[in-house]
Amino acid sequence: MTVVACPRCEKPVAWIKENEFRPFCSDRCKNIDFGAWANEEYRIANATPPDGDDQNAGIAHELD
Ligand SMILES: [Zn+2]
Repeated sequence: MTVVACPRCEKPVAWIKENEFRPFCSDRCKNIDFGAWANEEYRIANATPPDGDDQNAGIAHELD
């Protein structure tokens, strides 16, 4: 039987067709991973507003 490490928590996961969450150990790990991926995509898509540099400089100055 093949065993893989869950990409999320690194627990051993039996690679069997009965495990519908493989390569994750559970639906929880699977959903967390997908959520992180979706958030990352969203962040990248909105990361650069037209005046992003000026906005970032202003924030840095305020914190300083
Ligand atoms: Zn897991």
